[in-house]
Amino acid sequence: MGRSNVGKSSLINALVRQRVARTSAAPGKTRLANVYRVTRGGGVPFYLLDLPGYGYARAPKQTRGASSPADGRRSSQGEFEAIVRVVFERAPAGLLLVDARHPGLASDRAAWAWIRAAAGRVAVVATKIDKLGRDERTRALKAFASVLDTSVLPVSAVTGEGLDELWTLIDRLTTSG
Ligand code: GDP
Repeated sequence: MGRSNVGKSSLINALVRQRVARTSAAPGKTRLANVYRVTRGGGVPFYLLDLPGYGYARAPKQTRGASSPADGRRSSQGEFEAIVRVVFERAPAGLLLVDARHPGLASDRAAWAWIRAAAGRVAVVATKIDKLGRDERTRALKAFASVLDTSVLPVSAVTGEGLDELWTLIDRLTTSG
């Protein structure tokens, strides 16, 4: 999970490096969550859930009349919570994606607190690392580590950096024991 535009879909596509089977998607104009079944040679198949992004108000554009923007937000929020409740009842592994350029966002800190409480094993991945120079990158990774109190894996869906390490991390998170 991660903020809208943090790079969730790009990272999923880069990870599997081919068209993935989208086994379910909510119809209609509101994307609730995408579910992918990932099978790798030799590996245990697992379901990868691309949860809705947070960080932007999701009020409908036309809100004159009965429903107010606040109503729209509440209903999206309610649906979001219903989905994640069902998913996280099973205490799956959780990955929080954060944009490498923006350490310490309040919404990311809240999401980290939430996912740690809700999921079994968790880790943080910093996306779009290709957008930072060497020094910026060192600074950003330090800032993340200090704010989130955990080390953060830098990745890029564009250059492919960190993807092997991310697979190793996913193996570790999804393998019991
Ligand atoms: P989502 O809303 O979290 O699924 O985000 P997307 O995967 O749609 O990505 C949002 C934007 O960030 C798109 O314009 C992507 O091309 C861009 N983007 C995603 N990952 C990377 C990355 O690793 N490096 C760079 N430079 N851009 C990225």
